[in-house]
Amino acid sequence: MNEIDNARPPASRRIDGKALAAAIRAELKRAVQNADFCPGLAVVRVGDDAASQSYVAAKIRACAEVGFASRHIALCAEAGEQALLDEIEALNRDEAIHGILVQLPLPPGFDETRVISAIDPAKDADGFHPLNVGRLLIGLDAPIPCTPKGILRLLDSEGVALKGKRAVVIGRSNIVGKPIAQLLCARDATVTICHSKTRDLADEVRRADIIVAAVGRAGFVRPEWIKPGAIIIDVGINRNGTGKIVGDVAPECFERAEAMTPVPGGVGPMTVAMLLENTWELARRNSNPLQRGAD
Ligand code: NAD
Repeated sequence: MNEIDNARPPASRRIDGKALAAAIRAELKRAVQNADFCPGLAVVRVGDDAASQSYVAAKIRACAEVGFASRHIALCAEAGEQALLDEIEALNRDEAIHGILVQLPLPPGFDETRVISAIDPAKDADGFHPLNVGRLLIGLDAPIPCTPKGILRLLDSEGVALKGKRAVVIGRSNIVGKPIAQLLCARDATVTICHSKTRDLADEVRRADIIVAAVGRAGFVRPEWIKPGAIIIDVGINRNGTGKIVGDVAPECFERAEAMTPVPGGVGPMTVAMLLENTWELARRNSNPLQRGAD
């Protein structure tokens, strides 16, 4: 096969996150039109990180598209942690706001755990609050972090059976690696978590039926590591030497995989769609007293 361009992999092997995310947004838009409440999402950003600014802009645009109310709160890094905690406290009390998200990473000097813990767990749109992380771990109802939730939805959309499959997750961050490993395990996959100290990473990956790469290094996963017929989920968002957005998985891996997500157009749009879905679910629960505490 000729060299494959990551932007245009063979259609049969490309897991189209962009299309699935658009379908989910369309469904949410219809649901909002028929609802007697308007979901409200607050996105709080601190500092002037360019990537964070563009992610926040995409989230606010997505809210507008589906008919959610949104609020964008931007603080300068010099405002300090207490100002951020005060904003969160005001949003916790605001009945028009059902979901709160603090865009990470925060600037140096901010205590991310303290900040995330200040969000009302019932408004935790990202599912990062320690209480919700714990609930998810023991199998209780909780908002599921958006990127892992989107990955599961992509696997389900492809009809990938997870039970008994060997899954290798590369990366152990709190926002991607750990929760996706937990979710795959809960769906009866046999999960190996690999990280920066893993020995013989290639050997671990070679055994995998399902590979989730969340490392943050362009083209890190090599085609010779891929068992023919594996399913590959590429979470990475990296800029290559020419400024193009590329994933963690070398594009040549498309040739060995049964199916693989492209970057861009794979996991990224699903993360935003799942944020909307989480906000919708929080709004539905908290605007209907009958559903409160029903879990
Ligand atoms: P992180 O920096 O918090 O974690 C990276 C992980 O990679 C770490 O756990 C580390 O142990 C592991 N790692 C580093 N070097 C390694 C090596 N040589 N071998 C094996 N493992 C190694 O990153 P993160 O927040 O989990 O994000 C990972 C990537 O996913 C980034 O590119 C990020 O931009 C992207 N991301 C994308 C989305 C999306 O919606 N598509 C969402 C979140 C993160």
